Amino acid sequence: MEYVSSRDKNLRVSAAQAIAAGIAPDGGLFCPTTFPRLTAEDFQKLMTLDYKGRAAWILGQFLTDFTAEELNSFAQKAYADEKFGGADTAPVKSLADGVHMLELWHGPTCAFKDMALQMLPHLLTASLRKTGETRTCCILVATSGDTGKAALEGFANVPGTKIMVYYPVDGVSPMQKLQMVTQTGDNVEVVAIKGNFDDAQSAVKRIFTDADSAKRLDEAGLMFSSANSINWGRLAPQIAYYVSAYCDLVQAGKIAQGDRVNICVPTGNFGNILAAYIAAQMGVPFGKLVCASNQNNVLTDFFRSGGTYDKNRPFYTTNSPSMDILISSNLERLLFYISGQNDVLVKEKMEELAKTGVYTIPESLREQLTAHFAAGCCDDAKTAETIRTVFDQQHYLLDTHTAVAYRVYEEYRAATGDNAPVIIASTASPFKFCKPVAAALGHPIQTDGTEQLDALAELTGETVPAPLAALAGKSVRFDRVVDKNEILSTLDLLM
Ligand SMILES: *Cc1c(COP(=O)(O)O)cnc(C)c1O
Repeated sequence: MEYVSSRDKNLRVSAAQAIAAGIAPDGGLFCPTTFPRLTAEDFQKLMTLDYKGRAAWILGQFLTDFTAEELNSFAQKAYADEKFGGADTAPVKSLADGVHMLELWHGPTCAFKDMALQMLPHLLTASLRKTGETRTCCILVATSGDTGKAALEGFANVPGTKIMVYYPVDGVSPMQKLQMVTQTGDNVEVVAIKGNFDDAQSAVKRIFTDADSAKRLDEAGLMFSSANSINWGRLAPQIAYYVSAYCDLVQAGKIAQGDRVNICVPTGNFGNILAAYIAAQMGVPFGKLVCASNQNNVLTDFFRSGGTYDKNRPFYTTNSPSMDILISSNLERLLFYISGQNDVLVKEKMEELAKTGVYTIPESLREQLTAHFAAGCCDDAKTAETIRTVFDQQHYLLDTHTAVAYRVYEEYRAATGDNAPVIIASTASPFKFCKPVAAALGHPIQTDGTEQLDALAELTGETVPAPLAALAGKSVRFDRVVDKNEILSTLDLLM
């Protein structure tokens, strides 16, 4: 399968080349030129496999320069039972009214990012081998909280790699911060940026396309790559859990093969919901893809306006920090596909976005947006109300991000009368966001540090996930804070 830059179809590479590079040299995102189609036999076969087998098989459809043996061995390691608390890597829990929660947070850092970032180091190191790359690969990561820790956990002590994580100093939860600054490993660096997530992400993108930095690194025997969802190796493993969840619902007798199921995803960078879109393009019978945002509702406005993206607006720091984003990178890939792979259009719109902060898609593409997507948003107050109601009525504890999705879906259903079953992506353990979750239940927690975990456990009767409990007593290794304009100087830490 071939990959091209979303901004230039003449830039053609293999999957291994796309993963090794992270981002295309022209600033575009690598996209497969075709989507594999799942047949009835494929579904039959997938039903018989466990999560590891399904993930390897689906990756194999996209990563055609990898062997089945390679991918199976990667999946066994990435989704090992010890790392995901058992063989049920991404369990589906059914609530009332045909609402099915796809729990993606049973991995080592308790957020859905593990589903991709446990796999990415295997894909990336193999891609470097396949492309004959001998330099040490430096992974730069901008994080709104969960990606940073998941990437550190995935890449710590992986030979041939170094990893540097930038997080917004006031933009992550105390638990997220604690997870990152206590990270062990000889090849890891963590830096706080004075700025928000978009500042961190823009700075990292700038480093990637800065010729001087690339030259300096090259001279030191180093190269850059990305573990953000701009990297195809991040996105591809996410497609697998949507296919797998559909299979699980069929197997459990909750739906019949072929039944239409809606999807609702708490969205930031548009990576997770794009994976659902791709699964739908592969023939999984997904209906509406509902894009849920918090108060940073740039995507809600994009879909509701029929395609005007306008990032010129206030940035809010919310209780769902991993969605505090105004520039959703992966929307670029969606634009590429709904425009029939029109690279010229994508390049033009992305240049407009960089220059003015606004673009509008052509009228002719609007129908594609509304055919596949719906969107809504939810502020912190409604998020809290939702956590409380769902816990009281169904004894199911939502984290703040998943609560945004739950609420947006309820409103979507009420407004449209669409009563199809839905898979809601549950993206983090509530224990990563103890304070807002406890406050939502009417019992604010005063303590900081890991005591919060025990307080929330006591309040809800839920068990603290082992990886978070293990943070107690770990020492802080990283306390560097830099101005967003000084980010280039932090590259010295890699040399
Ligand atoms: C990253 C993240 C999101 C947003 O996912 P995108 O792929 O960036 O849209 C939502 N919830 C949680 C908990 C996250 O960590």
